Formats: sequence, structure tokens, C-alpha cells
Amino acid sequence: MSVQILDGKTTAQQLRESLKPRVTALQEKGITPCLAVLLVGDDPASHTYVKMKARACESVGIRSVVKPMPRNCAQADLESLIDFWNQDPKTHGVLIQHPVPQPLDEGALLKRLLPEKDVDGITPASMGALLAGEWAFHACTPAGIITLLDHYHIPIEGKHAVVVGRSVILGKPMALLLLNRNATVTICHSRTKNLPEFTRQADILVAAVGKPELIHGDQIKPGAVVIDAGYNRVEGRQGDVGDVHYESAAQVASAITPVPGGVGPMTVATLLANTVLAAETFCK
Ligand code: NAP
Repeated sequence: MSVQILDGKTTAQQLRESLKPRVTALQEKGITPCLAVLLVGDDPASHTYVKMKARACESVGIRSVVKPMPRNCAQADLESLIDFWNQDPKTHGVLIQHPVPQPLDEGALLKRLLPEKDVDGITPASMGALLAGEWAFHACTPAGIITLLDHYHIPIEGKHAVVVGRSVILGKPMALLLLNRNATVTICHSRTKNLPEFTRQADILVAAVGKPELIHGDQIKPGAVVIDAGYNRVEGRQGDVGDVHYESAAQVASAITPVPGGVGPMTVATLLANTVLAAETFCK
């Protein structure tokens, strides 16, 4: 049986296209969806991500406002900005680009952001709502993974999903989203003993670790669906490398996401979709 490639690039493009008429409908009502981005400090990767997200916004007609702030700025100034965006009817979504350099308090900024503007879905309020089964925007990477599974009509209910990684932005919300869809979920992490014993049980395996090619084909159940969220730079190799050893995993999996072109584009498309939804829902 040949493996099915879960093409996040094409799926994300389709999702982005589907947003354009919704943006046009908003514009006809005098509303231009707007994403405000707080970018603190001079981390080159953060600057690259923010540029990429701003370009993605433009591609579907979302206005993006990037506010760069020096790393030595005052916490109070950042909090005033969040307060301004919270109240500004023309700002529909706010993204606090991670990491905010220390000693600035990123957690305090996240706590200040209103859930209806948290299109990145990562504030404690949004996470708590997800846990409580209440409405919130969901963290973009796990939400994008669910959209990708749905796009390929991959059943989730009743499946054993194993999530490797328990970060606040990825592993934990991934596990909750799968649980909400009635999967039986196991969460693994750096203290898990005998990781392959768990990964071999997965009908759906989500690798969200940050360790290049940690999981090989011999650690995967034949016929499993493999989602590789990892993006790792490896010296001497071109491009990004996933958390899964693609060649060996593709020999045993029924479906797999490539790196790049799998989970990454879905994350950005989900951010755009959340911003449009925020404008539709909260801007009457
Ligand atoms: P993170 O905050 O560093 O979390 C990594 C998780 O993996 C932790 O829970 C850690 O366990 C666990 N872990 C580390 N080594 C392990 C091992 N040997 N066995 C089992 N579990 C292990 O990373 P993250 O932010 O979640 O990101 C994970 C990966 O996804 C990275 O490659 C990142 O670049 C990528 N990512 C991709 C996107 C995208 O859009 N595609 C978005 C976000 C992140 P402990 O909790 O015990 O430390």
C-alpha cells in the first residue's frame, strides 16, 4: 500500500482562497479584518516569521499592523499597547510574537489580551476555555492539524492518538483537540520511559518534539497516520527536518505529513482564518 501524503501546502492554499470571499463580504460592510502583531526585540527568526505572517495576511486581504518594540522597552508600554488593541474596534486579532525577551514578562501580556482577540489561541484564558469545553480560538498549529485531518477525511473518533510533546502551544492543546473529537489520547514527553512502546500503539501519531528524526519507521504501527509538526535546523543539511524520519516512516504509515509542506502552512492559514472569524464574529 502506498502512503498518502497529507499535503498541507495545497490544503492551506485552499483554506486561504476560501477566506477571500469572506474578506470581501466584510469589506462591503466597511470592515477590513486587521491583525496587530507585537514584535519585541531583534531575534532574526521572529522578524522572519512576522514578515511571513504579514505577507500571508496581505494575500487574503487582511490588514496587518506590526508594532516593533526595542528589547529594552518598558513592560508598561507593552501592556498599554495590548490595552489599546483590546479596545480598538479596528483591530480584530492580536499576535504577541514569541519569545518576548526577558526580563519582559510575556505571560503577563498574554493574560492581558482579551480571548476574542487572541487569534493565536495561546492565552491562559483561551487554553482554559478549551479545557472547559467552552468557546475560544484554538492554538493555530494543533487546530491546523485537525483541519488537515478533516480535509483528508481521516477519522479521529475512537482512534488511539499518541501526542509526543506537551508544550503549551502545541502538545497539550493538540491532545485536548483530539480528545474533544473522541480520540483516546496518550501524551508522551521527555520523561516518558520507552517512548517506542507508546508510538507503536498510535493510530494517529503526532510528533511535536523538536528533535530531528527522533521517531523512525520501526517505532510506528503499520497503517498509522503520522503528523510531523517538527521543524528543526540541522547543521550540514538544507532546509528543515521533521521530528519523524520521513523515509522509513513513509514505508509503514498509511498517511504522513511532509516537512516542509505539511503542518507549517496549516498553522499560518489557521491564523488567517481565526482573524477573519474574529472580524465576522465580534465586529457587527
Ligand atoms: P517545546 O516547547 O520545546 O516542547 C517540546 C516537547 O517535546 C516537550 O514537551 C518535551 O518534553 C518533549 N520532548 C523533548 N524531548 C523528548 C524526547 N526525547 N522524547 C519525548 N518527548 C520529548 O517545543 P514546541 O514549541 O512544542 O515545538 C515542537 C516542535 O514543533 C519544534 O520542532 C518546533 O519547531 C515545531 N513547531 C512547529 C510549528 C509549525 O507551525 N509547524 C509550530 C510550533 C512548533 P518535556 O515537557 O518533558 O520537556
